[in-house]
Amino acid sequence: MRASSSGFLAAAILIAVVLATAVSVSGHPGHDINITSSPWDSFNELVGCHRGVNQTGLANLKQYFHYFGYIPENDPNSDDTFDDILENAIKTYQRNFNLNVSGVLDAATVAQVVRPRCGVPDIVNGTTTMNSGKSSKTQRGSGGVVHSVAHFSFFPDRPTWGDKRDLTYYLDSSSSSSQQIVDAQRMSVIFSRAFSRWSAVTPLTFRETDTRSSADIRVGFYSDDHGDGEPFDGLLGTLAHAFSPPDGRLHLDAAENWNVNSDDSVGFTQVDLESVAVHEIGHLLGLGHSSVEEAIMYPSITSGSRRVDLAADDVDGIQELYGSNPNGASPAVPSTQERETSDSDSRLLRRGSATILTTGLIGLSTSLFFSLL
Ligand SMILES: [Zn+2]
Ligand SMILES: [Zn+2]
Repeated sequence: MRASSSGFLAAAILIAVVLATAVSVSGHPGHDINITSSPWDSFNELVGCHRGVNQTGLANLKQYFHYFGYIPENDPNSDDTFDDILENAIKTYQRNFNLNVSGVLDAATVAQVVRPRCGVPDIVNGTTTMNSGKSSKTQRGSGGVVHSVAHFSFFPDRPTWGDKRDLTYYLDSSSSSSQQIVDAQRMSVIFSRAFSRWSAVTPLTFRETDTRSSADIRVGFYSDDHGDGEPFDGLLGTLAHAFSPPDGRLHLDAAENWNVNSDDSVGFTQVDLESVAVHEIGHLLGLGHSSVEEAIMYPSITSGSRRVDLAADDVDGIQELYGSNPNGASPAVPSTQERETSDSDSRLLRRGSATILTTGLIGLSTSLFFSLL
């Protein structure tokens, strides 16, 4: 299905935020128009399925898990049978999303499956970038405090921008067919803010340039098949995708109803551009997905909402790659009790997992979240 993604560094990192809800839009007097936009809605009918059953729709679910890396490309059993491979995929998924690991399609699991999410695979080339690539719990301290494992992650081989610290970005507010998608000034403000979230906590700087050819990062809107093997799919569904460093390409689906307001008044069916931008910049800089639900790098993004503040987990991850801001200030994220109380322990454990880094997994940190809203 996504053969182009298997060679990872050269491959597009797809960000598919699929809006899973059936949206009721008042459009005509006297009645509503139901728009069911998600290809995943039918998964709701699979609640209760378990190994051994045969039910229509399971083949599609296998495709879903294949898409996000939970079932290998060469799995031949793409039928409606709930086999061992599907069960294992579900267990891994449940581990990654902090669900009860049963291998059964319980209601909570299906609810998570149909939630809007980013399309960057959770498992790349067999490497799990979330919880399931690590031991599930780590006991620490004499009191036996359970320390949840880690959450931020990197891509295989840890691609970064190397020694480059000052990056430029080019923004195009029009689609490839020259249709204006969002207001250029609003887009500039939004991306400036989105980049500043990451520069506040790293030595990196970001500066907008109007010279596309020399820009390190290039952001633009595209429609349908646009030549990189990851076609967009119109309204809703796939929203955007980006490439791991140092490629710098970030593509947004021109068909979406993008919110460019900076307050919380995101329309129910809108997708907040700044929220998507902050998440995707994380990928552009080298971060994979996190199992921390509050983190920017958590795979799910909810329509009609904003999530633009880095969580401690995001900060830990990006600082592992680039270090902290030499100016010392990290105004976007307050220091955390976790870091104050378990810093040495956490560092030790992080160093201990260094060998895992090369396979794309990383770090220890607790799920702390700071909302500045
Ligand atoms: Zn993502
Ligand atoms: Zn693209």
